[in-house]
Amino acid sequence: MNQKYRKVVIAGNWKMNKLPTEVRDYVKRLRELLPPKKSLDVVICAPFVSLSNLCKTLTDAKILPGAQDVSAHEKGAYTGEVSAEMLADLGLRYCIVGHSERREYHDESDNEVNGKVKRLLDAGIIPIICVGESLEQRESDITKEHLAYQIKAALSGLSEKEVRKCVIAYEPIWAIGTGKTASAEMAGEMCKFIRTCIRSNFDARTARSVSILYGGSMNAKNSKELLEQEDIDGGLIGGASLIPEDFVKIIESALEVSNEKK
Ligand code: PEP
Repeated sequence: MNQKYRKVVIAGNWKMNKLPTEVRDYVKRLRELLPPKKSLDVVICAPFVSLSNLCKTLTDAKILPGAQDVSAHEKGAYTGEVSAEMLADLGLRYCIVGHSERREYHDESDNEVNGKVKRLLDAGIIPIICVGESLEQRESDITKEHLAYQIKAALSGLSEKEVRKCVIAYEPIWAIGTGKTASAEMAGEMCKFIRTCIRSNFDARTARSVSILYGGSMNAKNSKELLEQEDIDGGLIGGASLIPEDFVKIIESALEVSNEKK
């Protein structure tokens, strides 16, 4: 991480876990465990039905509320969809887009991801844009081409200023929920490559300012090593974010690394 230029973000992705009635106790416990002073954004991305409770419970900036998806449409006849404006009205600060589970199970295209990013930025919500290669792509040695394509498509049509508001999450699909983590060096190299892609599509200042997170079986044991990489500015955490005691250990690793860097 490099706090001189970029914000550190530790975001939990609850996926389809926890009931709306479980939000309060989780937040209470996490709050008790969180170190008093922190120079990073701690984010919880909950399912849509829990967002109202989440936003009501998170009354200060200690923990920020996030969603897991949004519609690429502004408003209208899109039954079952939730717009960026609705999320902003509730008080959401972050929203995941293009998670590999949505790309895979809901056929979400790069074009849709781009539409979602634009809607979120218009509504003042920070998009956490997920990119990453499958095992097959890694084994075929096309990881970099794939990442370059996903980054270009997701950020297409945005100004430099808008890109600087985005967060990217590098999540190798083969590492998500599998217990297999990319080695710190490999994850660091891919995040550096993503920054190079942003530089070539936009400019050096923009590339330097975008926070890039690693996601894929990050936990208390491996987080420090991953976060020590110069181009990894935080984590997107699934399984290990479900229990406050586990999640806070990752937050502590980030604080440790950032204090070491000061
Ligand atoms: C994720 O949900 O984005 C994720 C990285 O999950 P896990 O930490 O469980 O691999």
